[in-house]
Amino acid sequence: MFDTVLVANRGEIALRVIRTLRRLGVRSVAVYSDADAGAPHVRAADAAVRLPSGYLAVEEVLAAAGRTGAQAVHPGYGFLAESTAFARRCAEEGVVFVGPPAEAVEAMGDKIRAKATVAAAGVPVVPGGAEPDDLTEAALRIGFPVLVKPSAGGGGKGMLVARSAAELPQALESARRTAAAAFGDATLLVERYIAGPRHIEIQVLADAHGNVVHLGERECSLQRRHQKIIEEAPSPLLDEETRRRMGEDAVRAARSVGYVGAGTVEFIVAGDEPGHPAYFIEMNTRLQVEHPVTELVTGLDLVELQLRVAAGEPLPFAQEEVRLRGHAVEARVYAEDPARDFLPTGGTVLALAEPGDRPDVRVDSGLRPGTVVGSDYDPMLSKIIAWAPDRGEALRRLDAALRATTVLGVTTNIAFLRALLADPDVAAGRLSTGLIDQRLGALLDAAQGGGPVGVSSLSAGSPAKGSVSAGSPAKGVPDGQVAGGRAPGGAPPGEVLAAAALVLHDELARRAGDDPWEVPDGWRVGEPAWTTWLLAARGETAAVRVRGLPARGCEVAVADGAAVRARLARDGDADRVTMDGVTSRFACALDGGVVWLGRDGRSWALTPHEAGERGAGAGPGGAGDGVVRSPMPGTVLLVKVVPGEQVTEGQPLVIVEAMKMEHTVTAPADGIVAELAVRAGRPVDMDAVLAVIRPAPADPAGAPAAEEGS
Ligand code: ADP
Repeated sequence: MFDTVLVANRGEIALRVIRTLRRLGVRSVAVYSDADAGAPHVRAADAAVRLPSGYLAVEEVLAAAGRTGAQAVHPGYGFLAESTAFARRCAEEGVVFVGPPAEAVEAMGDKIRAKATVAAAGVPVVPGGAEPDDLTEAALRIGFPVLVKPSAGGGGKGMLVARSAAELPQALESARRTAAAAFGDATLLVERYIAGPRHIEIQVLADAHGNVVHLGERECSLQRRHQKIIEEAPSPLLDEETRRRMGEDAVRAARSVGYVGAGTVEFIVAGDEPGHPAYFIEMNTRLQVEHPVTELVTGLDLVELQLRVAAGEPLPFAQEEVRLRGHAVEARVYAEDPARDFLPTGGTVLALAEPGDRPDVRVDSGLRPGTVVGSDYDPMLSKIIAWAPDRGEALRRLDAALRATTVLGVTTNIAFLRALLADPDVAAGRLSTGLIDQRLGALLDAAQGGGPVGVSSLSAGSPAKGSVSAGSPAKGVPDGQVAGGRAPGGAPPGEVLAAAALVLHDELARRAGDDPWEVPDGWRVGEPAWTTWLLAARGETAAVRVRGLPARGCEVAVADGAAVRARLARDGDADRVTMDGVTSRFACALDGGVVWLGRDGRSWALTPHEAGERGAGAGPGGAGDGVVRSPMPGTVLLVKVVPGEQVTEGQPLVIVEAMKMEHTVTAPADGIVAELAVRAGRPVDMDAVLAVIRPAPADPAGAPAAEEGS
């Protein structure tokens, strides 16, 4: 075994590798970019070296290995994990690359070559065609719908479905653009698009002495944007015969390229009935994000096995000795907004709670309070993995762990993951890669609203009695109304709105300090007064009235609901809010003017503002006023219209790109492009105005435009 290993990665995976190194008594060396100088992985390692040019800088990583006496480099996943150039340079420098031989990475690195190689070894592959052959011809031969894929692809990027020959040119154009930008290789392939498929993959492990074993499967069918968010082992729907055949195919695929180390052979299984064919789609020549579920059901440490194999040791067990025990499920926590098409978010972690020690729950996380989540790196923040003797209990434990997770300051998918686990089909194991898309509306509603609402009178009811007057000096506004159209994901529950107003009101009282005229206690020359807070979240605004001091006891009313007695006890990050006799706990953080509240894995960001600041429908995604905003921070890739152009609802206006992900922003309604605020190549902020669409002026002659030229 090595005595020093450099970990050429960051975040949760760097920490995870360092954990095993420590257990094995191996010295660990971290590397870090300037943005990560104080990151947890840097603190966890025995030594750390700065990489001035970041994690992809091959020569800087090698120099760091040289300076610290590292005999081996573990690349984690992403960055240099599948770089044959890096693997070759390691060999030249006499440093062991903890991964397969460069030739195997090369053979599997490109989907076209990988399919050809394993097909020649007798492994079934999805019917399709590949460049340099003509893709249109191939698509016509295999029949529509087809899936267009970048050959060098990964992470679901650039994959597009073409449902007909008419859709194919645009799919090819967009996929090619993404492929060139994201992978530096524009080569594409087309495959038969398999309807309602399942993604099942097999973990393989090979040593340098000719032994290859598999460690069973992982079911990874719960995906958004063709990317996994929940994975489990074993698959709830695989009969013994299919399992055996897939295991053998996976081992055959690994052997066909002389594989050494840990790898994953991915299959797509058509339909959910036993006996359906499992087609090879690709092999990932590295540790996978979802490897922990395999570790929990096999009791093996895959990083330890990778290191042993890299050090030349033979596999310590044979295929017959692999035992699978119980069930494990992993959920990936992403900085993304499910209600905005799962686009990456960002921000600074203001408050953080992760599930602490609990039986059979593992948390692989790279987060800490203060972590800045930007657009430089993958938006995955952490992974939560639960094990239990059976699937139902594993899902329950995972949900409990997610409920105990709070991230404030960055919008995450935690509540969405909980909604997904509660879905009846997910609970029953009826999974497919299309499930999330099919149920999106219901899942978003479940993620945002619902939940245990303690005070029903806060969300509806008769108009409140009592006088309403202009309130606090800074934020008070006249009595407001709930305004704005319904945004995806819905408005926060009344209880949350009330809690946010109490926190703001309390904050104002504290800041006012001793000046009795500034204290918003509701008393103005003997007259009890209400302060009205207008709180905006997700494009919806609600009015919440508060009278009295929250810390001592006050009254609160949401919208036109009845007033209830309330009290706020602030307690570090966790505040206790008592309303109408029921006390609940919220995590709370204030960031500038924004109040972040979290509970049960959900989080809400509420912005107090003056009346009239944001009109109906002007919020993100709102279409009412024709203002089209950027759904994410990124770069404008293409502008597809010109000022004055007539557009129809749904017509692509602008393509925004971030993290090599393209998002097409479309016209909210028929009309004329009245303003176009962007140019290709320019960066845009989240919510930045891209364009304004105004209704087309009525034709004076009254002739419908459609008749023109007919
Ligand atoms: P990437 O390397 O970008 O992750 P993959 O080839 O592994 O791309 O595919 C990612 C996901 O896309 C799969 O898990 C599956 O959900 C879907 N997919 C891939 N190929 C097909 C296909 N032929 N038909 C239907 N869905 C597919």
